[in-house]
This record gives sequence, structure tokens and C-alpha cells, in this order.
Amino acid sequence: MPSHADISFITHWSRQAACLSEDPELFFPISPQGPGQMQHEHAKAVCRRCPVRMQCLEYALNTHQAHGVWGGTSPDERAAAALARAGQRAGA
Ligand code: SF4
Repeated sequence: MPSHADISFITHWSRQAACLSEDPELFFPISPQGPGQMQHEHAKAVCRRCPVRMQCLEYALNTHQAHGVWGGTSPDERAAAALARAGQRAGA
């Protein structure tokens, strides 16, 4: 599983990522509930001020990132977005 640091080698947009100055583990909380909730919300707050949030989200969706916060979304939110996309493609 690539970390946010790993993608800096394969994408030009990630050099502008707001998370470059953050602890990478912040973006991989054990769970968005319970003790990990504060960590999860902190990561999402960083994403909200990130200038490449949409590129990050596209990358995560296109590469099926199943863990962590990417583009300001949780794994469950990305799974829902992927399902919605699949439904749009099927209906097109
Ligand atoms: S949207 Fe969030 S995870 Fe993605 S590059 Fe920006 S700060 Fe990092």
C-alpha cells in the first residue's frame, strides 16, 4: 500500500500537498470511530486546506486506495463514491 510520501515520487501534484508537512500516520487512523476519530478529523481538516485535494481524490479512486484519508475522504466515503461512479457508467 503506498503511503502519502510514496506518491510524491509518482505524481507532480503531490509536491503541493498540504500533508507533506504532517505526520503520515495521521492519515491512516486505525478507525474513523473511537480513539481514531480525532486523528481522522485532524487529517480531514488538513485535506480541506489542500490545493490538490481533487487530484488526490482522483488518484485514490483510480488506484482503489482502501485505507486511510485521501482527498479528504474516508475509505467508506470513497467506496460510496466508487459505487456511485459505477452506477453512472452503467446508466450512461
Ligand atoms: S487531499 Fe489530503 S491526503 Fe490528499 S494530498 Fe492533500 S492533504 Fe494529502
